Amino acid sequence: MTGSSADLHIHTSYSDGLYPPAETVRMAKDVNLKAMAITDHDTVAGLKEGKLAGRKLGIEVISGVELSCELDGNEIHMLGYFAPGNETELEERLEWYQAKREERVFEIIDRLNQAGIILNIAEVRRFSTGKSIGRLHVAKALMAQGTARSVHEVFSRFLGPDGVAYVPKAKLSIQEAVEFIHEHQGVGVLAHPGMYRIENAAERTLEYLDGIEVWYPEHSPSFEDHLYALALKNRLMPTGGSDYHGVGRNEIGCVRIPYSIVTRLLEVAVGV
Ligand SMILES: [Zn+2]
Ligand SMILES: [Zn+2]
Repeated sequence: MTGSSADLHIHTSYSDGLYPPAETVRMAKDVNLKAMAITDHDTVAGLKEGKLAGRKLGIEVISGVELSCELDGNEIHMLGYFAPGNETELEERLEWYQAKREERVFEIIDRLNQAGIILNIAEVRRFSTGKSIGRLHVAKALMAQGTARSVHEVFSRFLGPDGVAYVPKAKLSIQEAVEFIHEHQGVGVLAHPGMYRIENAAERTLEYLDGIEVWYPEHSPSFEDHLYALALKNRLMPTGGSDYHGVGRNEIGCVRIPYSIVTRLLEVAVGV
């Protein structure tokens, strides 16, 4: 499928992606996508730049976000896709959430300092090109100062549940996330149901969802079949995307869905 397909799950440097929005949009255009969604973690601050680039290059950039939520103590991600035009209001509403993330980083730094590891907020900020700041930026700072050699080591020794500087995330419930998305003319889609520690994430959250991310690089074909049937049976929209971050793993456009799904998604978002 070329020229009439979409990748609805893409990150930029405004969250934990490697490339700025304009660069990311250009790459999507280069692999001949008709539409793409920017779905940064807990921020829509990259949309403006992305949409501008999209208009110049002739590729449709859908407003999206990936919200971190919690289900029974496990992290679950909800994708929101929005009707165009309300990015500014959306961003304002998401800022309280970013403030919470920053608070968490300060707390992590406090705990690291207490454990004898000297790190300050400026060192962490150096690794954040966008607006949001989180644990990955702390990890990069620790690696840069030679305290740890890999992200894995950082999480097992410091930031993970068994680490000395573990601070649980302040998270939304699935219900709160979907309410937030609906309040802003959006549709709520459960991201990558196959990627959680919790089993049957889709089955357990069906009542709140507008859609399920069926097509995803790490989903097996049989799991995708299962999710697709589940979506149809419950009148939910099936979506898909690469979860592109720009590093190592999935390439942009490696998952493509028909453009007709995008049309439907936006119709539902504006209440057609
Ligand atoms: Zn995710
Ligand atoms: Zn993602």
